[in-house]
Amino acid sequence: MRVNGSCHCGAIQYEAEIDIHAAMICHCTDCQTLSSTAFRVNAPASAENFKLTKGTPKEYVKIGESGRPRAQGFCSNCGTQIYATSAEGDRSIFMLRVGAMKERSLVIPKIQSWNQSALKWIRNLQTIPTQEKG
Ligand SMILES: [Zn+2]
Ligand SMILES: [Zn+2]
Repeated sequence: MRVNGSCHCGAIQYEAEIDIHAAMICHCTDCQTLSSTAFRVNAPASAENFKLTKGTPKEYVKIGESGRPRAQGFCSNCGTQIYATSAEGDRSIFMLRVGAMKERSLVIPKIQSWNQSALKWIRNLQTIPTQEKG
């Protein structure tokens, strides 16, 4: 699926072809901390299908569960997270952050990973009262 991504301030923009069947929720504690929220939603694109059209993301490198360094790309101006990719060797896959895609409402996650660290209230989201505006 073709998507258009942009950070909040517009300094970083990209076009990509994502594998919508591999869209996923990640409940790992790194995703909770790095996103400053309850979980992160990702969808992968191969490097040839990910094209930055404006700006250059800043990268923060973390060591993943696998022990391998992962580069976390984000806008250095507004902080919006854009992707994660390998920080060593070939950058063959970019895990794109779905919240920064204009088409985010169309990207339905197919699986939830790191279930053991999911925040417990996530399982009862429908029971929390709603309102139309904040
Ligand atoms: Zn920005
Ligand atoms: Zn994660």
